Amino acid sequence: MTSRLPPVQTLSPEDIGRFGPDPEAAFRVNLAAVETRIAAACARAGRDRASVRLLPITKTVPAHILRLAHAAGVRPFGENKIQEAVGKRELLQDLPIDWCIVGHLQSNKAKYLARLAREFHALDSAKLAELLDRRLEIEDRVLDVYIQVNTSDEDTKYGLHPDALIPFIETLGQYRRLRPRGLMTLALLNADMEKVRPCFALLRRLRDEAVRLNPALTELSMGMSGDFEEAIEEGSNVVRVGQAIFGKRPTPDGHYWPGLLKS
Ligand SMILES: *Cc1c(COP(=O)(O)O)cnc(C)c1O
Repeated sequence: MTSRLPPVQTLSPEDIGRFGPDPEAAFRVNLAAVETRIAAACARAGRDRASVRLLPITKTVPAHILRLAHAAGVRPFGENKIQEAVGKRELLQDLPIDWCIVGHLQSNKAKYLARLAREFHALDSAKLAELLDRRLEIEDRVLDVYIQVNTSDEDTKYGLHPDALIPFIETLGQYRRLRPRGLMTLALLNADMEKVRPCFALLRRLRDEAVRLNPALTELSMGMSGDFEEAIEEGSNVVRVGQAIFGKRPTPDGHYWPGLLKS
């Protein structure tokens, strides 16, 4: 039994500053609070709790802290940058972790994603679909994919234009290794929910259209720490939540979402 214990790493002052003296306990509390809010949002919307999946987003959380998160019941792990996920997987090989990638992927990184990820929440081009399919064939793997749509009309943001979605879906049938699951969006980042909700409502309408073309496209991946309750009320099936579980990130979000750099 003792030989199976993970390597122990003491917390640095920086870890304690960011995650507190007992990160595992803190993550348990945060996870329970998020769970309560998800359940309440489902109840308000008259939805079954089982229709919403929590995808914890672990970007910027170091591997030794992720060990504690895993012990606290956080899973699977969603990362935005493939390089970061590759590094962490290396350090956490002894844990049974499903890795999901939720951000834009440069095509030269397709092979890493094909090796590592179980889900990809940012498919946004035919070129990337083609590359991933070829790489997955080599790895003899399959990948659940969510098509990213730009619902906020910000041209610096990644994702297909809503008008391009249906033609794109029509091409997906040729990729045998991609399992289309649904649509994904990053809503407008705004404290005013009256501006955020229309993004979610649009994705839902697009999903209703998409599912007629491909019955597998049932899922809506939408909602983050600042807006997951509204997203659930608008029909979300997957909420991608980072900071409400792990605390505020030190890196500015513009690093992940180019749309933010402008504003
Ligand atoms: C970081 C990230 C999230 C989570 O954002 P939080 O504010 O930490 O909840 C969700 N989706 C994507 C694509 C992200 O990069």
